[in-house]
Amino acid sequence: MKAPNDPRPVRVLPRGECPVCNMTYHLTSSGKVGRHNGITLSGFSTGQRCPGIGRAPYVAPGA
Ligand SMILES: [Zn+2]
Repeated sequence: MKAPNDPRPVRVLPRGECPVCNMTYHLTSSGKVGRHNGITLSGFSTGQRCPGIGRAPYVAPGA
């Protein structure tokens, strides 16, 4: 007999906020911001890698 609602552990990927573009991205195994493209102020991708890659993620005060 199988339970209809099989509780599975949810895989939680570490995420953090890029200090440059203020968007949330996955973190690398070393806890740094992962690869992503930069975002312009109007919210469009710049098409180039964000300079925040590899930096420590921004942590909101009080978080
Ligand atoms: Zn960024």
